[in-house]
Amino acid sequence: MAPSRPQSYVELVDGRKRFRLSQLDTGETWGLDKEAARLHVASIEDEFRELADLLAYAASHSLLVIIQGRDAAGKDGCVRRILSFSNVQTVRVTAFKVPSAQELAHDYLWRIHKAAPEKGDLAIFNRSHYEDVVAVRVHNLVPKEIWQKRYEQINNFEEVLTDANTIVVKFFLHISPDEQERRLLERENDSRKFWKLNPSDWIERDFWEETTEAYEDVFNKCSSKERPWHIIPSDKKWFRDVAVLETLVSILRPYRARWMAELEKIGETAKAEIAKARQHSQMLSHPVASISKAKKAKKARPKVVARTKKATRTKKAKKSR
Ligand code: AMP
Ligand code: MG
Repeated sequence: MAPSRPQSYVELVDGRKRFRLSQLDTGETWGLDKEAARLHVASIEDEFRELADLLAYAASHSLLVIIQGRDAAGKDGCVRRILSFSNVQTVRVTAFKVPSAQELAHDYLWRIHKAAPEKGDLAIFNRSHYEDVVAVRVHNLVPKEIWQKRYEQINNFEEVLTDANTIVVKFFLHISPDEQERRLLERENDSRKFWKLNPSDWIERDFWEETTEAYEDVFNKCSSKERPWHIIPSDKKWFRDVAVLETLVSILRPYRARWMAELEKIGETAKAEIAKARQHSQMLSHPVASISKAKKAKKARPKVVARTKKATRTKKAKKSR
């Protein structure tokens, strides 16, 4: 039996009304249970694969998935999950860390724009330009006059991407302080997760409220109907995964007919070219006859040249006499 679909898998923030993170429970599942989520993923993962292929082969659009969230919110896991359903030949993941000296010597969008996807490609951003109005603001890395102007700059930048046929999808993985603590402690107790340990994750917890405020400004200043924020309750990893996949499929699905039509056009053009090439090769048919004709012509040529030379010599001799 098909799983009953919850009304929604995400809280959609599209700029129409103010949003506060406290409005949404980080453990919300809208009535979906783990087994129903598993069945739902199984029922749509092939559709996502097909849409990812259509995106790649029609090559008229690109897809940019931006993933933001606090430490241990599950960004890496989410990237891995999307990758497992993607066309690996056309996907690129960029994890944005503290900017390097070279990156800092440019404007803050320089490194971001370079990683934007070209047509046909899927780019996944693990953190993004939104760190330039969250981390930067929370830790006072640049003066307020500078970061305050960035919301509008980011909106303009993302509009440039949309106008170039980039489908921009923004996810925020919403976890509670308790779930974050549980995950950080789990890392300390599991040797396979030691590599993830980072003292700054604990230091960041002291800035929980400031980070919440910074994110709420992001959601309220950088959301629109074209580029909304999808806030995903992420305390439960299985819910996060089904919500991300369902959101991506429902965003890409309306493009299917157009991409299929484009592929058909590509096919028709290629077929016409093949037919033309065949016609051309038919005109050059009877290869044996053509080769012997060419040989005869080659043999005849020296005689002509010799006769011409002889004729020239006779002319010259006559003249000198
Ligand atoms: P992680 O993603 O856990 O490996 O950590 C990357 C760190 O880089 C996080 O603490 C981010 O806040 C930080 N970061 C990423 N982008 C920026 C930025 N533009 N300015 C300052 N810090 C940043
Ligand atoms: Mg981290």
